[in-house]
Amino acid sequence: MAQRKPIVAGNWKMNGSLELVSEICGEVEKHKNVNLDVIIFPPALLLKDVVSKGILAGTQTISEFDSGAFTGEIHAQLAHELGAKYTLVGHSERRSLFSESNQQVADKFAKAQEFGLVPILCVGETEQQRDAGKTEEIVAQQIKAVIDKLGVAALNNSVIAYEPVWAIGTGKTATPEQAQAVHKFIRDMLSSYDEHVAQTLRILYGGSVNEKNSESLFAQADIDGGLIGGASLQKDAFISICKSA
Ligand code: PGA
Repeated sequence: MAQRKPIVAGNWKMNGSLELVSEICGEVEKHKNVNLDVIIFPPALLLKDVVSKGILAGTQTISEFDSGAFTGEIHAQLAHELGAKYTLVGHSERRSLFSESNQQVADKFAKAQEFGLVPILCVGETEQQRDAGKTEEIVAQQIKAVIDKLGVAALNNSVIAYEPVWAIGTGKTATPEQAQAVHKFIRDMLSSYDEHVAQTLRILYGGSVNEKNSESLFAQADIDGGLIGGASLQKDAFISICKSA
């Protein structure tokens, strides 16, 4: 079976400060480990500060457009120039609060790769969709939008984060078995396109991961680390999550 290097990513959302950059990045630096990629997604205004601490960093979203008259947008090329290596695309808060469609997320994915950023494609179902038995259908559609636009090979240079919407910021984590079932579904779906992509793509779990549940989630065969929101703002919790990966 392919060896996949785990990732622990901290999504700060619209939180954080210069003080938090010093506090968290200092600690991440101290615990650096060649067998783990730790990536911080601070608010874009703090990107350069995180990069200057020698930490892998990325933006929480990027524009699907080229430079021009798009007030307030984040240009992938500039993010890359400032030292970003990754970007999230299609986080559920972007999909629900900013109405991003699967097509738009696929456009952002393409723009990220065009300018040298590795996209982390976030997918996941709402509680209503899960209750209606539609989890696999929703997740498949979200991933297929990227494959239809760019071909399956584009996934070679990307990461997927499975984040059930009902688990984000709610304290209601998916059980390791629930998460593993969806991760396996994603890998099986990808193997129908390309076995190499299926075996090497890193698939992260996100949604109320904390220092108490991370170890059992990360122990699952198809879970290659986590995308951490709330707990990534707490130094001790975040470091212990990193150690459990
Ligand atoms: P949470 O957020 O860990 O606070 O649930 C995860 C995310 O939104 O990426």
